[in-house]
Amino acid sequence: MLCTENTLVKIEPHRLTAAPMRCKRWTCEICAPMNTKELKRKARRGAPTTFLTLTVNPNSYEGPHERAEALKGAWRKVVRRIKKQYGYAQLPYLCVFERTKAGEPHLHIMCRVRWIGQQWLSDQMRREIDAPIVDVRRIRSARRAAAYVAKYVAKAPEKWQGCKRWWRAKCYDIPQDGDDPEPGSQVHEWLIRHMRAEMLVQLWAMDGWRIEHAGFSYVMRPPLGGAREPPPPGSAPP
Ligand SMILES: [Zn+2]
Repeated sequence: MLCTENTLVKIEPHRLTAAPMRCKRWTCEICAPMNTKELKRKARRGAPTTFLTLTVNPNSYEGPHERAEALKGAWRKVVRRIKKQYGYAQLPYLCVFERTKAGEPHLHIMCRVRWIGQQWLSDQMRREIDAPIVDVRRIRSARRAAAYVAKYVAKAPEKWQGCKRWWRAKCYDIPQDGDDPEPGSQVHEWLIRHMRAEMLVQLWAMDGWRIEHAGFSYVMRPPLGGAREPPPPGSAPP
């Protein structure tokens, strides 16, 4: 399926909404910039206080992919140990893989905690995967830190085998009032049409519906002089 070939449609009595369905792949030129923006927003909104960088030992494991997987596993264990060591009930974090110039994985982690000691963390990583080189610093600007980590994801064309580009603990998100559900997240309200959004909107416009908002997604208002029935988008050719 090509990106945006399909459209999510919501039909309300006085409003039609059409949102292109994205493939959301980081290798897609339409989706990658939007993914980056979304990642920045999520990273910033977790109000991170502390920035960690974890590395690997290039002499351990078979290759960079194996080292990335080991790093991922080490972080999972270290999360548990941080909670125990510092008495944190939760460890809200968001982490992002980087591929360094040398082709090795680094893990950049934004977290919301009082503190984590550099030497202590270094000891844990030595114990786990023999990779004691770690960095711990305070985040002064969540915005800057978010932009910094997003950059790594955006520039990495491939991901490490068996690893996501980035992920976060559920507790990292701080819900805010007025959060808009993403198009398609309330599945029952949205229908899928197998055509491009621009095409669908043109068909609606021929029925007199007026474009109220046009951007990545479209919102249409009923024809002037009284709403007819919403044009069944099913009338569009499949
Ligand atoms: Zn796409």
